[in-house]
Amino acid sequence: MMTAEEYIESLRQLGPRTVYLFGERVENPVDHPMIRPSVNACAMTYRLAEIPEYQDLATATSALTGRPINRFVHLHQSPEDLVKKVKMQRLLGQLTGTCFQRCVGLDALNAVWSATYEIDQKYGTSYQERFRRFVLEWEEKDWTVDGAMTDPKGNRALGPSAQADPDLYVHVVERRADGIIVRGAKVHQTGLLNSHQILVMPTLALKPEDADYAVCFAVPADDPTLIYIYGRQSSDTRKLERSPVDMGNIHYGGQEGIIIFNETFVPWERVFMCGETEFAGMLVERFAAYHRQSYGGCKVGNGDVLIGAAAAVAEYHGVANASHIREKLTEMVHLNETLYACGIACSAEGVRTAAGNYLVNVLLANVCKQNVTRFPYEIARLAQDIAGGLLGTMPSDADFSLPEVGLLCRKYLAPASPFPPEHRQRILRLIEAMTMGSLAVGYLVESMHGAGSPQTQRIVIQRYADLEGKKALARRLCGIDPDDLLPKG
Ligand code: SF4
Ligand code: FE
Repeated sequence: MMTAEEYIESLRQLGPRTVYLFGERVENPVDHPMIRPSVNACAMTYRLAEIPEYQDLATATSALTGRPINRFVHLHQSPEDLVKKVKMQRLLGQLTGTCFQRCVGLDALNAVWSATYEIDQKYGTSYQERFRRFVLEWEEKDWTVDGAMTDPKGNRALGPSAQADPDLYVHVVERRADGIIVRGAKVHQTGLLNSHQILVMPTLALKPEDADYAVCFAVPADDPTLIYIYGRQSSDTRKLERSPVDMGNIHYGGQEGIIIFNETFVPWERVFMCGETEFAGMLVERFAAYHRQSYGGCKVGNGDVLIGAAAAVAEYHGVANASHIREKLTEMVHLNETLYACGIACSAEGVRTAAGNYLVNVLLANVCKQNVTRFPYEIARLAQDIAGGLLGTMPSDADFSLPEVGLLCRKYLAPASPFPPEHRQRILRLIEAMTMGSLAVGYLVESMHGAGSPQTQRIVIQRYADLEGKKALARRLCGIDPDDLLPKG
């Protein structure tokens, strides 16, 4: 397993990558001040595995080699493994306050593992054997792998092959004896620059005419045909300011952006699906279910931070004992723990796939994520309520630091005794960052759209709802259907 330091150094050792940020090429993304906080967040997934007290959560025993591995490269072997995953994610969400990015690869690993097995069962292909070799290297090198699913999609009313521009979904443009050439882009890519490999999957269920779009493959992150365009997030330039105080979260951040596959060659050895359209929907549903489970961990950990920040600012304001403040904090905890309950429940109800690894309960995972599209917004609203108007009017730390005006800032913006003004400054900036600044992407926008926008969960919930079964229950009780269980006589 890599240490956090080795992980960061391994990113520096990647070959040259074409990266754009603010209209400029970035030669060394790892040490760029806008990007570094996201590297630190992902590095925590390595750090956790180094700390003895967390090893039960952060490490696992490889199902393939029997060796100890980081849990982020683990094929889940039991419901208990699924539960531990959520607990680990909550812990990491608490320690970073943001998205630590590595789960998309873990979720892709488990989804592709079972999907390749089932494709092979039907077609006699050897995708899983190839994927197994890839996974062995993944475990061995302790890679961060970017699970890449979301295509740009163009006109949402049209399928991939009906688009005016065929590249709006990643597709095979040429099949060769030694491999395939692909073109297209993946958007909303979490941790794209902090990964060693990119694992590409289709983004939706496909029809037979979309065979070129039914493609799953892996490429090294430093493949020279890839182009990365870094995404902006609100208040992201705060990271470039001299004083860290106004950043809110001074060490960690998320990372999102676009990856373009510009005629990328993939050897057959790294192709894990190619043309089997009827398996695309299943792969998407499994990946999404795992990632919707993940949100019952990471966003709960972020929620813990925000609830803590709201409780701290209430103390600084001198209102910690006001009954309405305690009531609001209780409501925040109730909402947050409800999300956690969903994350744990869909894990505990996990089932074994034909390939041997475990899949979450799909219905409960979708219910989990559906709640995540709502509750963090309410938790954020309550945090802003408790924070008060200073959340939107506080002078910059540069003013607090001036000799004379700084004295005035500290005099007129003094919190309740015995707290120093800077503590309230920092906590308010953290609440600002999480509810409307750069961390609001990780805590709110991702809660809404990550692992699929709300409607995608409702479609799955509808499909798994078993309304016929529920109707039969009702009919039996009111005498429309016979009650066979009632004792006779
Ligand atoms: Fe992991 Fe959460 Fe980030 Fe997804 S949003 S990669 S589950 S931390
Ligand atoms: Fe996400």
